[in-house]
Amino acid sequence: MHDILILGGGLVGNSLACALDNSGLKVGLVEASMPAIGAPGFNERKLALSAASLMALQHLSVAQKFANGFSAIRRIHISRVGDFGCVDILAKDYDREYFGGVVLARDLGVALETRVAELKNLTLYRPAKVLQVEPHPASPSVLIECEGKQQRLSAKMIVGADGTRSMVRAALNIETLDFDYRQHLFVCTLQTDQVSEGTAFERFSSQGPVALLPMPGGQYGAICGVASDEVSQVEAMNDVQYGDYFQQRFGWRAGRIKKVGARTHYPLNKVVAKEIVGPGCILMGNAAQTIHPIGAQGFNLGLRDALSFVECLQEHDLQSTGLLSGYKESRREDREQTIAMSDGLARFTSQQGTLASAMRSLGFMGLGINRDLQMPIINGAMGFRGKIPMLVRGYQ
Ligand SMILES: Cc1cc2nc3c(=O)[nH]c(=O)nc-3n(C[C@H](O)[C@H](O)[C@H](O)COP(=O)(O)OP(=O)(O)OC[C@H]3O[C@@H](n4cnc5c(N)ncnc54)[C@H](O)[C@@H]3O)c2cc1C
Repeated sequence: MHDILILGGGLVGNSLACALDNSGLKVGLVEASMPAIGAPGFNERKLALSAASLMALQHLSVAQKFANGFSAIRRIHISRVGDFGCVDILAKDYDREYFGGVVLARDLGVALETRVAELKNLTLYRPAKVLQVEPHPASPSVLIECEGKQQRLSAKMIVGADGTRSMVRAALNIETLDFDYRQHLFVCTLQTDQVSEGTAFERFSSQGPVALLPMPGGQYGAICGVASDEVSQVEAMNDVQYGDYFQQRFGWRAGRIKKVGARTHYPLNKVVAKEIVGPGCILMGNAAQTIHPIGAQGFNLGLRDALSFVECLQEHDLQSTGLLSGYKESRREDREQTIAMSDGLARFTSQQGTLASAMRSLGFMGLGINRDLQMPIINGAMGFRGKIPMLVRGYQ
């Protein structure tokens, strides 16, 4: 019998396994994907990690294992097509070296898995598929299929880190609030003729957001929102056509686009669980909330779910109801605000009309010059929001 059984070995499930290393608990981790292939999320996407997440990953001995380090974000530039004003925020104005850093999702995934392989108190079931989850206040259990054999595993607590279509959430009969943004996000690497110098650009339009995340040597991680009914058209473009399309959407702030790398795209949906705890089970990461990637907060928020849970374990017994209510309460403010921020940004910046545009222009101008207005946004983006887990504050 495990103390804690983590279902889902994506970015968040692996982070939790690392954070439980010194807990003295017997931990199991079940992941469906083959080790050689890697979990589905460990791909070429560029993830913006907040300063808080980088600090925590350092404490968990994960950031040291990034194959290519990370590219620091020292400046954030936000603008919108057709509106006056822009927001230009420098980390040095806030006595910070950087707001966060950009890392390849694959590098983060491999670093996490390398660290997980070092853990002494962990049993890894992989490739193993969860077939059934049975919630129970004292001894929840799961049926898994591993190497062609079915096996029942029980635990004192089950953690659902099994992504947007979480089986744990379904077994708990937890409803979700769903929203289809009717957009796909195209991601690729591109090269311009200007050095990025640590600037992350976000540009909004009624067509959707466009962003560039800094990488070494004038390269950027490029993100482009495309309306669902235009996806096949954009998909059919060759690299030169896509470069021209992106340039037209983004403008010239980062220079002339010289080269475009391989593209993929993701449909954009919000799926938010109405509850994150149930008998003997909790949810975290995308299983608890899948949010619009525009604010680059999904993993950052999921990591804070994991760290908050580990802190709650220091205050409550594993099988107590206090643990469930403590975890739920510890996530309330951060979760609500981060979801609202990502959703609000996605909707507010895409609204058309003269009044909306004028309001936004005023908002941009105010935000651009007022540090008091910038501060909550900066703190949120850096991962310091709500009840802040110790590890992201730099304490162990
Ligand atoms: C285009 C894009 C850009 C993004 N950019 C950022 C960013 O810049 N910053 C940021 O913080 N976030 C970003 N995100 C969000 C981030 O990628 C996710 O929030 C994060 O990957 C969620 O991790 P997870 O472990 O919760 O879920 P997942 O990655 O979905 O992992 C779930 C795991 O559970 C396993 N699993 C599921 N069902 C079963 C089963 N039945 N049996 C066994 N295993 C199972 C799966 O194989 C998978 O490995 C972005 C997302 C997208 C789509």
